[in-house]
Amino acid sequence: MRYILGMQSNKKIKLPEALAICQKVFNEFIRLRDQKDGFFTCISCQVSKPIAQMNAGHYWSVGGHTAVRFDEDNCHGQCIACNKFKHGNLINYTLNLIKKIGQARYDKLEQKRFNKSKMMVFEVQLLTDLYREKVKTLKNNFG
Ligand SMILES: [Zn+2]
Repeated sequence: MRYILGMQSNKKIKLPEALAICQKVFNEFIRLRDQKDGFFTCISCQVSKPIAQMNAGHYWSVGGHTAVRFDEDNCHGQCIACNKFKHGNLINYTLNLIKKIGQARYDKLEQKRFNKSKMMVFEVQLLTDLYREKVKTLKNNFG
């Protein structure tokens, strides 16, 4: 019986794949949210740069903190220099994140990251759909 169920589930998309798709859409949303007229201000170094230099920079890393992976307070436009070469430039990220979202939301985010519950595939897919809609809305606003 178990084998039969296992074979049926082969057809379905697996969690890592669903998460990767959702991450792509979520990151696109963050990049659209944090840009203005082709420019953005890096959350860490506060320098205004063209959007080509923007990454979606997670405050708590994607790998170790599943509960805040798709939390909008945990992800902000960050320049490639800070994201890739200064390991997130975290001291400045912390200072500017608190300025941007406020101490209360920062504290909430810090608590939330300890939550170890995993999402189900269908939950990830629902979230992906939600962010596809949000991306569409933002794109329409710019158009
Ligand atoms: Zn930067």
